[in-house]
Amino acid sequence: MSVIDKIKAAAGRTLFTFEIMPPLKGSNFDEIAQTIERLLPYKPAYINITNHRAERVQVQTADGTAEQCIVKKRAGTAAIAAAIRYRYGVEVVPHLVCAGYSRSEAEDMLLDLAFLGISNVLALRGDPLKDEGRFVPHPQGDPYAIDLLRQIMRINGGEFLDANIPAAKPPVQFCAGVAGYPERHPEAPSFAADLEHLKNKVEAGAGYVVTQMFFDNAQYFRFVDECRKTGINVPIIPGLKPLAVRRHLETLPQIFHLSIPQKLRERIEKCRLPQDVRTAGEEWCIEQCQELIQAGVPALHFYTMSKADNVENVVRSVFGTR
Ligand code: FAD
Repeated sequence: MSVIDKIKAAAGRTLFTFEIMPPLKGSNFDEIAQTIERLLPYKPAYINITNHRAERVQVQTADGTAEQCIVKKRAGTAAIAAAIRYRYGVEVVPHLVCAGYSRSEAEDMLLDLAFLGISNVLALRGDPLKDEGRFVPHPQGDPYAIDLLRQIMRINGGEFLDANIPAAKPPVQFCAGVAGYPERHPEAPSFAADLEHLKNKVEAGAGYVVTQMFFDNAQYFRFVDECRKTGINVPIIPGLKPLAVRRHLETLPQIFHLSIPQKLRERIEKCRLPQDVRTAGEEWCIEQCQELIQAGVPALHFYTMSKADNVENVVRSVFGTR
């Protein structure tokens, strides 16, 4: 069932969803099974699986010189999505990124997903390589999420990159979501410019938006208001993460370009033990969830970073076992 149909079928009830990262190469499915199995009793409407571009690393060659290699550190998103779908019988939303992929690799992944019976995807640009500074697309790849989204919509219409493939609809119609940024994407020159790009993604066929994490609900409510004024009328799913360690006060704003409300900062700074920080982060997230549910949000989407304990505490408190 598509994400949009799930939201419609919920008829105003807030859904629970979460995302996990594919396991690192060299480990096995158990790395994510624990997270999934702890959260399954709370009946996630679907599970997102992130996608990680290959990274540039230095390797030592036999003659002692250093060589640059491009390596993928995690298992493939499509394979992990299928494993989750068929092992647990839960809907999945694999992420597709432009970063590091050519258009034909994107098409191959979409066709694999179609044959695996997976019709939901989240279309993203991805981030620059660590040493890159600004985003550089793959030479045969897409520069923005909207280009990937358009490719997905063309496939829905039976149009493939390879002109030799006879036009035919793939076995599924993809339902694609996109990312939105309540506190503006860091590369956007202004909030208005970012919103305009989001509107374009929705007009190009995105069925819904999932937001970057935020700790101040006022930022989400303002974002939704501005989206509606701009004519973005699709569901906007809030992305959440319980703050877990004291250093998150500095690292989360740096990495995700978000603000930490003064009240949360004060609560965390008062904590003496690491466990107190974790509990304070969970309590804050529970308060956020309760207010968002009251406001009638379509779903609460949790960034687990593949660690379930604090998300489980939040979800148990907010939803109970359903
Ligand atoms: P875009 O929509 O392409 O926007 C990128 C920037 O370009 C923005 O500043 C936008 O305003 C601007 N822009 C857009 N279109 C144009 C245009 N035509 N001309 C000029 N400027 C334009 N990253 C991963 O690597 N893997 C994941 O699995 C992953 N999952 C994510 C899930 C969610 C819910 C979110 C919020 C983010 C996720 N990310 C992931 C991170 C994401 O890839 C980065 O935030 C990335 O920097 C931007 O991606 P985007 O899809 O929003 O890009």
